[in-house]
Amino acid sequence: MSGWNIIYGLINFAILAAGLYFVGKKIVFKMLADHKKSVEDELTRAGQTAEHARELLESIDGRKAAGEDACARILSDARETAAAASRVEADRDAAAAEQIRQEGERKLRRLRTDARRELSDEAAEQIGTAAAALMRGEEYQQARRALTQQQIDTFIERYEVMPGELESFYETGRADLTVSFADEPDEAAAARIAQAVDAGIDKACGKNIATKLTVRQDSSLIGGVRIQVGDTVFDGSAAGALEQARGEIASLREPEEELLGALREKLRTVSLDMRVYQTGRVASISDGICSVTGISDVMAGEMLAFKGDLRGMVMDLKEGSVGVALLGNYDELREGDTVLRTRRVMEVPVGEELLGRVVDTLGRPVDGKGDIHAAATRPVESPAPGVIERCPVSVPMMTGIKAIDALIPIGRGQRELIIGDRQTGKTAIAIDTIINQRGKDMICIYVAIGQKESTVASVVDRLEKHGAMDYTIVVCANASEPAPMLYIAPYAGAAMGEYFMHQGKDVLIIYDDLSKQAVAYREISLLLHRPPGREAFPGDVFYLHSRLLERAARLNEAAGGGSMTALPIIETQAGDISAYIPTNVISITDGQIFLETDLFNAGVRPAVNVGLSVSRVGGAAQLGAMKQVAGRLRMDLAQYRELAAFSQFGSDLDKTTRATLNRGDRMTELLKQGQYTPMSAADQVVSLYAASEGYLDGVELRDVARFEQGLLPYVRSRFPELEGAVLSGSKLTKEQLALLREIIGAYTADFR
Ligand code: ATP
Ligand code: MG
Repeated sequence: MSGWNIIYGLINFAILAAGLYFVGKKIVFKMLADHKKSVEDELTRAGQTAEHARELLESIDGRKAAGEDACARILSDARETAAAASRVEADRDAAAAEQIRQEGERKLRRLRTDARRELSDEAAEQIGTAAAALMRGEEYQQARRALTQQQIDTFIERYEVMPGELESFYETGRADLTVSFADEPDEAAAARIAQAVDAGIDKACGKNIATKLTVRQDSSLIGGVRIQVGDTVFDGSAAGALEQARGEIASLREPEEELLGALREKLRTVSLDMRVYQTGRVASISDGICSVTGISDVMAGEMLAFKGDLRGMVMDLKEGSVGVALLGNYDELREGDTVLRTRRVMEVPVGEELLGRVVDTLGRPVDGKGDIHAAATRPVESPAPGVIERCPVSVPMMTGIKAIDALIPIGRGQRELIIGDRQTGKTAIAIDTIINQRGKDMICIYVAIGQKESTVASVVDRLEKHGAMDYTIVVCANASEPAPMLYIAPYAGAAMGEYFMHQGKDVLIIYDDLSKQAVAYREISLLLHRPPGREAFPGDVFYLHSRLLERAARLNEAAGGGSMTALPIIETQAGDISAYIPTNVISITDGQIFLETDLFNAGVRPAVNVGLSVSRVGGAAQLGAMKQVAGRLRMDLAQYRELAAFSQFGSDLDKTTRATLNRGDRMTELLKQGQYTPMSAADQVVSLYAASEGYLDGVELRDVARFEQGLLPYVRSRFPELEGAVLSGSKLTKEQLALLREIIGAYTADFR
């Protein structure tokens, strides 16, 4: 144990010293003064020469200079940006200047983050090298030997064979065992290890399996021993521990003031205990999918670590190999590369910290606003709430769009599909709905799947302009990203939403769009050699969407009382809603809003086809007053549609038919609504009531919009209690309706 203590002390020292020069600014020097004595003490105790200390301390100057250089660079950049901003301002182009300033700020933030990252990387590298050099020294031979012995004893005591591995031993009748020593190999100890492995395998399967022992010396291990049985590595080497510490230090993202503390904290947790991990090898790579052999005990959905930052998710468990979807740039990956298990299923960061941010599928920021320090994570796939935890939909989720709130009402916890051809205003409905949630205590998540970066950027810009980003998270997997990122993005968004739902909050999540996710999944499935089915989609494509949309729910009080409303979007080809994916999603959701190209082109926007759109559960959640005025509207519109188709052939129409057509025309006109202008519930009630009571009948078609524009403020100023009455959820009383009729009547009489 004493040997171990010395090494531990040494790492401590090395990291402390390197940490000091790494931070490279005034606090460091203050800390340096404070700690100089303790550093020196430690130095003497560890039996180091002054040489090391001087080297390390000298390099502090180097770091300081580098730090100052970086600072100067950042400052001059900022100055340049500021200069550019003021030049433009001189031209009185305030808007452009603001943009440049924001751009500058973003750039500055990025530069700072980059600089810090660079510092962390470099520091980690140097800490590692310094500690390794110290530990290699002749005077620590004793300590290293003690460590090795201790690790061998622990291994022999604890060894148990992994279940997945046993199978391959069984098949081949042989178990490969490699023991690598840092110093000269100890044959006797190796033989004891082989015995322990033999005994472990015998005990597990009762069959005599030959252990093939290889003993090696590997000085790159620095100290300790590394034992590999089959795919499982028991790594007690100092090099492994340093590498791990290096990785952790490099990923430190604390602000400078807290960096040193964080370094110490990391350091306290450095351990030379044996780390057990399973490894595998890349057998083949093709288009974002790779096949890995080894890692016999891997779980479905587990994250695998490839070299660099590359991560992969296990998609397919086959005999002898696993299929892995690669999440990121895989240009550097080669056949034969080592793969490590992480023993964790895929997770994303969740929490309030993500609000207002744009992140990718893995929850990493892509908006240049700096790192996200989310306190919690959640697995991307998790079971949907059960029946017992749910309660019926009864609270409205207002979109602010008349045609939808009146005719196809949506409730919190509902899943309502938005379906239509390309360019029919699908995204527009989703964005308007998000904007309408302002001040309604709703958290919105917009998941953009397979869209152009510029499209997503303009959506974010819109949301920002309307102050909607404060309560919104945007998750984007752009068209240029590998298919697995597009496939996982909706689940990642759902995980972020679930976090809030389980806290009792209301969440609205938009998947724009699931057709692209299905196509990405088809690509992955075909590459994994799964049999193609209808339209070449794999057989489980229904499950792809059902398990996602089932996660939308309204929880009962006992389960937390939150809700998640899902608005999935599906793009159809030439209005064909009977294709495979549209029919699937229609059957999963609680209704659909069907948008039509013909209507869109005829100027009916939003281009909702009222006949084909339904909401199966939302009616129960509609506000009482809304239900009162909209019931009539639905009937009138249905009659109108029937007559309109029929009357195209006849010219000689009777009076009632003409009146119905006339009313229908005006209602259709009234239901038109521009983008980014969501209406309050009370305003909608006034407009719809005016139409259904016939006040619009005498108004020219082209004047309908103007009529409405004047009517709303007129009623608002004369009947301010209406707002509260509508929002209370109960029906309007006879007196209230009479008052409303009186006010609208007075306005109509004056209208010209
Ligand atoms: P894509 O298939 O490309 O995703 P989409 O169906 O999502 O298209 P949008 O991008 O929402 O359609 O809208 C298409 C165009 O129609 C946009 O230029 C948008 O500004 C316009 N638009 C949508 N809704 C309205 C509306 N209510 N009033 C006026 N213009 C609208
Ligand atoms: Mg769109």
